[in-house]
Formats: sequence, structure tokens, C-alpha cells
Amino acid sequence: MKFSDIPFDKIVMVGNKRFLHTNTFNVNWLLGRYCNYNCSYCWPYAHTKKKDHRPLNVIIDVIETIFLNAHDKGFDKFTFSFSGGEPTLHPDFLDIIKYTSLEDSNVNITTNCSQSINWFNKLLKITPKISITASFHPEFETPERFIEKIKYLKDAGIYLQINIVLVHNNFDRMWEYAKYFYDQGISVQAKIEVEYRNNTTIEKPYTEDQLDKIKNGFPRITETNYTFEMIDQNNKVYEVDNIERVIGLGFNRFKGWECDTGYRSIIIHEPSGLVKRHYLCNDEPLGHIEKGFELYDSPKECITEICGSCADCKIPKYRRSL
Ligand code: SF4
Ligand code: SF4
Repeated sequence: MKFSDIPFDKIVMVGNKRFLHTNTFNVNWLLGRYCNYNCSYCWPYAHTKKKDHRPLNVIIDVIETIFLNAHDKGFDKFTFSFSGGEPTLHPDFLDIIKYTSLEDSNVNITTNCSQSINWFNKLLKITPKISITASFHPEFETPERFIEKIKYLKDAGIYLQINIVLVHNNFDRMWEYAKYFYDQGISVQAKIEVEYRNNTTIEKPYTEDQLDKIKNGFPRITETNYTFEMIDQNNKVYEVDNIERVIGLGFNRFKGWECDTGYRSIIIHEPSGLVKRHYLCNDEPLGHIEKGFELYDSPKECITEICGSCADCKIPKYRRSL
């Protein structure tokens, strides 16, 4: 069955496998906007040349609070996903990973992979439970140098996939890069380009042919917990290998469903320091990194038209009536 043939109108539960089947609390942490690249398609608010990191002691306090609050609600496993800017440029990044690894935690890092092999080896000594979403940016890196590093990390046992934004006005070139990496045995997550304006997701205009490629191209190479499941009212499970496809297919409309974000998943957003239900939810923030925050007691109804980011989509959601 093609991904685009999944009967979304009959689906009553969705989410990433890891969250649907294990007692895992999720934290998406945008550590700061500081980045050593300056990609032309990056949103102005997503990167800065000025260092904007919060000190380690504040971060450690927050990690401890997360562990306590999540235990209180019965969660005993954790996923921490760090992004930025370029998150690995936080001066205490390796110490942050040490603290998150004091519990049963998986760590995902979305990185442009500009750190040295030596740096990645230090990271691996702290915890082997690392996965990397490696973003390729052709204005600052060659595909040959990039794939060399990726292959080294893969051989070192890191689960990784390459992220590539199919910039809508440079689609063919970006597709060729994606294919170059995929043909060398690396999973590729081809992302559609979206823009966020006034808390609203604006999807860029793609042709039918381009959309069809996004919906069905590059099936995942390795089986992982990152597989997204859609379950219908008869308990039939449809697997989608790449969360970006959920957005490409237009399945990201959950207004009126109950959603676990804010209850078993939060995002921490820098430089504002806000702790929020998730990236693009219209709900009020849960609190602030330095002033405290409160989780919901149970899943809560979604009030947002479009679930615009893949991080938001992957957290379990339940349709109570069809
Ligand atoms: S590497 Fe990522 S955060 Fe940095 S400028 Fe490029 S798109 Fe933006
Ligand atoms: S927009 Fe927010 S509340 Fe709605 S489904 Fe997505 S993550 Fe959940």
C-alpha cells in the first residue's frame, strides 16, 4: 500500500512507536539559536551569530525538575531531543548529555555535523544511546565531506538519518543530494519547506509531481523506534517510516483530538526560556525555564488547526469519536 492510500478518516490513534509502546517522557530542547552556518533558507529567528546559551547550572536544575515531574506521572524512560541553532555549540553540551544520561534516556541531536570526529568520540564515551539527525546544508558543506563523517558515525554504532530541506525553489538539486546520500545506504528524511508566521504554519507551494515524490520517496532503510504508527478503529496498524511524510500527506490535522503533549512531552524554547506544550500549539505556555512549569495531569484536547512540525506530530494523539 502506498503511504498516500492510508485511510486517515478511519484512524483513531497516532504517534511514534517508542511513545505508543513504552513509558517514555519526551523533551524537545531548543538550546539556543547560535549557529556557525548562515543558510539562506534558514528563518531569521532560527539562527544568530550572537551566543545566546543559558548557563549549565540552570539547565541541570531543569533536567532534575523534568525527572521529578515525569516520575510523578509514572514515566520512567526519557527521550531528550536537542536542536538549535546548532545545539552542539553550547559550551557545556557534553556535560548536559552527562546529566540527561543519569536516567534511562535516549538522546537525539539535530546537528549540522560540523563538529570534529574527535568531538563525536567524546560524546559516544558519555552514552551510546545517541541518535543523530544530520542536516545537510550545501552552502556550507560538500556532499563528499559530509557523507564521509556520516559513514564514520554509522560505523561507530550511532543510529542516524540525514535531514534535507527540499527548498521549494531549488527542489531538483536538493532531491539529487538526497538521492546521493540514500544511494550510499543512509536513511534520508526529505523535509518540505514551511514558514512560521504569527504562530501559523504556511506550507510552501510544491507541484503535484514534487508532492508525490515527498509522499512516497526514500523508504527508510533501517527499522527504528522512530517509525510512526497510525491505528484505525479495528486496531489495524499502518506504519509510516518517516514522520515528514505525515506532513507531506496532509495528515497533520488533529484539532479536537486528545494529545499527550504538555502531559508526557514538552518543548523548551530558547532564547525566550518558555516551556511549552509543543512547538506550534496555540495553548498558553506551561511555564518558564527559570521560574518553573507545570505539566497537564492527562492528555488534553488539541485546539490548533495544523500540527505543523514533525516533533509535534510524533507525540501520541487520540480521536475519541469518528
Ligand atoms: S545550519 Fe540550521 S540553524 Fe544553522 S543557519 Fe543552517 S538551517 Fe539555520
Ligand atoms: S498542534 Fe499541539 S496539541 Fe495539537 S496535535 Fe499538534 S502537538 Fe498536539
